[in-house]
Amino acid sequence: AGDSYGVLPRPCRALVLLNPHSGAGRALEDFQAVVQPMLAEAEVTASVFVTERPHHAHEKVRDEDLSQWDTLVVMSGDGLLYEVVNGLMERPDWDEAMKKPLCILPGGSGNALAASINYYAGNDHVAKKKLLMNCTFLLCKGLHTQMDLVSLSTASGKRLFSFLGFGWGFISDVDIDSEKYRWLGNARFTLGTLQCLAKLRVYHGRLSYLPLGPTAQGTPRDPVTNAPRALPPDSLLVPLGQPVPAHWTVVPEEEFVTVYAIYQSHLGTNLLMAPAARLHDGCIHLFYLKAGISRAALLRIFLAMARGTHLDLNCPHLCYVPVRAFRLEPRTSAGIMTVDGEALASEPVQGQVHGRLCRVVCG
Ligand code: ADP
Ligand code: MG
Repeated sequence: AGDSYGVLPRPCRALVLLNPHSGAGRALEDFQAVVQPMLAEAEVTASVFVTERPHHAHEKVRDEDLSQWDTLVVMSGDGLLYEVVNGLMERPDWDEAMKKPLCILPGGSGNALAASINYYAGNDHVAKKKLLMNCTFLLCKGLHTQMDLVSLSTASGKRLFSFLGFGWGFISDVDIDSEKYRWLGNARFTLGTLQCLAKLRVYHGRLSYLPLGPTAQGTPRDPVTNAPRALPPDSLLVPLGQPVPAHWTVVPEEEFVTVYAIYQSHLGTNLLMAPAARLHDGCIHLFYLKAGISRAALLRIFLAMARGTHLDLNCPHLCYVPVRAFRLEPRTSAGIMTVDGEALASEPVQGQVHGRLCRVVCG
């Protein structure tokens, strides 16, 4: 893990996975008008793969001969990159595949990773076409580094890899309820927040976590072999049927407005939720809002999040703890969970960070 930074070769062969229906539906136009000319200047040749349906990008990268490409670029929202990451993790050579630098170009309505990378690069806060230009410029420069992923396991036996965040309750409801307003772009989240505030409800469940400690740095690595490798083991977790280990913390309250485990700085273009987060900080930034918070206080928190000052409000209902692993056991199966903004039926879930599991183009 010492050689943390690399640079894309010139000329550079990029496979661009593009969802024409993401965001306001202008990803292909924007790619041709804004991105293509900049890439040409930088000797990056782009082969565009336009997705025709959900899961199409997942299948493409799962089966692709990756030696043809120097980078896999996603021009869409976070949802399409989530497909790409999980498609790559399904390959028998996943550990080789995860060395291929990924790149996100914001074409969706939820562009949290693009906003985070723009922030880590030290750029001013921008949105829309300016954010797209900043991210394209990073691809032209070609610097890449490692990124942590979080492995999530569900009670029904799913194993998912996530680069952005896991949510439950209010924030997930806003994310999914507002998808019908995708044409509004990022403003979909503002409208969705106001609508969900009106019908504010409480979610029952048990939340536990392993606090960030000086020990347990990283995940033990398997010995190198040529055989297809088992997926990285979740060495910090015990099976969901068993109680969490004794050195974990169990949150005494069991009524929440929302739980959000984020591993990047931004939850959305205008939501700086975890200002301290970095691409490979080995950390899950766990936020939860306890029931009993007023609508006004909740609104204040979301407004303050535009500048990342929500913790300065010292709201007694808002809790933040940096962790390595967490478990959430909802009391009822009602409600929805999200992984990187994609919906998941509500069930017990636990997750742990896997340091530096993939690579992304950065500043
Ligand atoms: P947005 O930020 O606008 O939500 P995403 O990249 O998150 O954009 O994509 C939203 C969803 O669209 C994802 O679940 C993805 O699987 C799905 N998708 C990808 N390609 C297509 C397509 N051609 N038609 C419809 N849905 C698609
Ligand atoms: Mg999305």
